[in-house]
Amino acid sequence: NLYNMVQDLKGNIRVYCRIRPAFGDRTSNVIDYIGDDGSLVISDPLKPQKDGKKVFQFNRVFGPTATQDEVFMDTQPLIRSVMDGYNVCIFAYGQTGSGKTYTMSGPSGRSTKDMGINYLALSDLFQMSNERKDIVNYSIQVQMVEIYNEHVITLPFHSNHAYVTSFVFLTMHKLEIRSCTGDNGLSLPDAKMHSVKSTADVLNLMKLGEANRVVSSTALNNRSSRSHSILTVHVHGKDVSGSTLHSCLHLVDLAGSERVDKSEVTGDRLKEAQYINKSLSCLGDVITALAQKNSHIPYRNSKLTLLLQDSLGGHAKTLMFAHLSPEGDSFGETISTLKFAQRVS
Ligand code: ADP
Ligand code: MG
Repeated sequence: NLYNMVQDLKGNIRVYCRIRPAFGDRTSNVIDYIGDDGSLVISDPLKPQKDGKKVFQFNRVFGPTATQDEVFMDTQPLIRSVMDGYNVCIFAYGQTGSGKTYTMSGPSGRSTKDMGINYLALSDLFQMSNERKDIVNYSIQVQMVEIYNEHVITLPFHSNHAYVTSFVFLTMHKLEIRSCTGDNGLSLPDAKMHSVKSTADVLNLMKLGEANRVVSSTALNNRSSRSHSILTVHVHGKDVSGSTLHSCLHLVDLAGSERVDKSEVTGDRLKEAQYINKSLSCLGDVITALAQKNSHIPYRNSKLTLLLQDSLGGHAKTLMFAHLSPEGDSFGETISTLKFAQRVS
């Protein structure tokens, strides 16, 4: 079909850029032009003349007025291919405050308005599973883990938050990545698998996940922007002839990509920053090596790429969202995000 043809032509890696609305009435805005064809022009606030303008090209650019539904529409075909047996990774990249969590989860709080890709994807998978129920019997399970300082951890799912608060350090489980073999996508046998049958199950799980994350992020001084958060959806299918499939959709809210000034941070904060730097640049190296069809793909250089090894490359499909903050004072980080995104596309 047409979608597959387009995929083949473009390869299995695509990069979308998303720019969030500017906060308040801060005046300078670096976004100069957003094209329907995926082009983006930004201008250096300190060089308003022509030489301050830079042009970038992506598969798509979503401006500040783009809705969650519009973003999802362009992501849906990729997500649907999971039901046909493809492994898919979707990453949200960008500095802290640029809208990664908004894209993946939605606005914070209890409302179910403007839900992000995680929720919309799962709803869509349930719908497809229902549409195909006479031909294929699907079951859907999810795992939620985080990578913090090169440790894979899972937060305990207690509904009693008070309990979690005081014991968060003690109860964070460090997990081992077992040998990455076969096509099963995520090799974390010890992370809890949650069976989900409806969007209500998903909402409950996400609320619990968010509550745990909020609690632990205060306990660990806003750790949430300094860890990679991975929601993995496992799809098992069995058709009428008895043949089976198992595929994975990984939805990854990456740690903030901002550089920290080595002269200003020390100790734990510096260590965290170095781990984040290393794992994000490893991710960039892996995706670049895949795009260039290199024979050696450096999966083993970070926990993130090792964990997702079976879902990066081969027949798997990858989508990177590069998130930008439009304000002038973010210009340096914006350029570095755009360079990262350009390198992997
Ligand atoms: P990050 O996860 O990259 O640190 P957030 O997703 O938390 O950033 O976004 C920072 C703030 O901006 C949040 O208050 C969020 O709700 C808001 N925001 C981000 N993207 C959008 C958007 N596209 N539309 C409206 N508000 C947004
Ligand atoms: Mg976030």
